[in-house]
Amino acid sequence: MIHMRDVSKVYENGTVALDHVQVDIGKGEFVFIVGASGAGKSTFIKLLLREELPSGGSLIVNGRDVVHMERAEIPYLRRGLGVIFQDYRLLPDKTVFENVAFAMQVIEAPRRIMQRSVFSVLDVVGLRDKYDSFPSQLSGGEQQRVAIARAIVNNPAIVIADEPTGNLDPDTSWDIMDIFQRINKAGTTIVMATHDRNIVDTMKRRVIAIEDGRIVRDQARGGYGYEA
Ligand code: ADP
Ligand code: ADP
Repeated sequence: MIHMRDVSKVYENGTVALDHVQVDIGKGEFVFIVGASGAGKSTFIKLLLREELPSGGSLIVNGRDVVHMERAEIPYLRRGLGVIFQDYRLLPDKTVFENVAFAMQVIEAPRRIMQRSVFSVLDVVGLRDKYDSFPSQLSGGEQQRVAIARAIVNNPAIVIADEPTGNLDPDTSWDIMDIFQRINKAGTTIVMATHDRNIVDTMKRRVIAIEDGRIVRDQARGGYGYEA
C-alpha cells in the first residue's frame, strides 16, 4: 500500500524534515507513527497525501507513484485515502449528513446510493440518530466520529489519521480507537500519528518511531517508549 524508498524532505528554508526514510506498509496493517514534536510525523503524512513532494527518493501510495504524479491525478490519489485530523475539520454550516455526503458528492454518486452509503457509515460510527445535527451541537468525540464517517464513506484503501485523539479525553479516545479497530478488521490499512502513549502501549500494533527525520525504530508489536 505504501512504499517509501530513501525518501527525504528538505523544506525551502533548509530544514531536513525527513532523512532517507525506508518504509513499507502492507494492506490491512495498523501502524502508529510516534515521535517528539518536530520529529517529522506530519511531514510523513503530508507526503502520503501529496500535500508536499519528497525532495528525493521514491514513494508509491496505493499503487500510484506520488513523486511523478501529474497534478490532475492528485484527486484520484486522495479519493483512495481517508484522512482524519486532530481538529475534525467539519463544515460548520452543514449537518452531519451533509458533511459526510459532501465527501461523496465529489465523486458524483447517484443520490440513493449516496444516502445509503452515508447512513451506513453513520451506523459504523454510531451517529445515525444525529444525522440532522450541526457540528456545534456535538461533543468533540461525536465530531471526530463524523470525521471518521466522512473519511470512510468512499471505501478508502488507507485511513490516515494525524493525532485523531489529541483533543479528546481518555474514554472518548478509546471509543475512537474501537472504531479504527473495526475499520481495520474490515481490511482497511490504518496509519495513525499519535502522542497517546496509553493507546500505543495498550494496542500493541506496529510502531514506527521517528526522531529528527529518521526512523529509529520499527516494531511489529511495539510500544510508545523509546526503549527498544
Ligand atoms: P511533527 O509532525 O513530528 O511535529 P513536522 O513534520 O511537522 O513534525 O516537522 C518536522 C520538521 O520540519 C520540524 O523541524 C518543523 O519545524 C519543520 N517543518 C515542518 N513544516 C515546515 C515548512 N512548511 N517549512 C519549513 N519547515 C517545516
Ligand atoms: P433530501 O435528500 O433532498 O433532503 P430525502 O427525502 O431524500 O430529501 O431525505 C430527507 C432527509 O431524510 C435526508 O437528507 C436525510 O437526512 C434523512 N434520511 C434519509 N434516509 C434516512 C434514513 N434511512 N434514516 C434516517 N434519516 C434518513
